[in-house]
Amino acid sequence: MIEKTLSIIKPDAVERELGDSIKKIFLNNGLNISKSKKVKITKQEASEFYKVHETKPFYEELCAYLSSGPIIVMILEGENAILKNREIMGATNPKDAAEGTIRKLYGISIDKNSVHGSDSLDNATKEINFFFKN
Ligand code: ADP
Ligand code: MG
Repeated sequence: MIEKTLSIIKPDAVERELGDSIKKIFLNNGLNISKSKKVKITKQEASEFYKVHETKPFYEELCAYLSSGPIIVMILEGENAILKNREIMGATNPKDAAEGTIRKLYGISIDKNSVHGSDSLDNATKEINFFFKN
């Protein structure tokens, strides 16, 4: 099934100018980038975006981090895009990420792990609407 998913290049990767290298990985794996924009969000917007994690001990830190610098938000489109993107990203902790994945290549730590990707069809729709309302 052709799906759409939301991808974010997080502040640690934008800061290191890894945007184009990461985009190339998506394209090389058969995902199209149908929309892309660089934005900086407020801590309040980050708190709304990551609301599913509000009970986690790292929530505050996570929201502060996502709003700490520019991010690149993208809609990725393709066959099984949601799962495919999760595979391309690799495990949450770069230490556990498989060879060749974005997080293995570029992730610094469990929090500064370079990319976000929607984890389900429902969340993909919500997250795309969060950043690309029209
Ligand atoms: P993923 O981004 O792989 O979907 P989660 O949804 O579980 O991972 O977590 C969201 C984000 O919260 C992670 O990408 C990471 O930046 C951060 N995070 C997750 N677990 C921890 C942790 N134990 N300590 C600090 N930050 C964490
Ligand atoms: Mg997640």
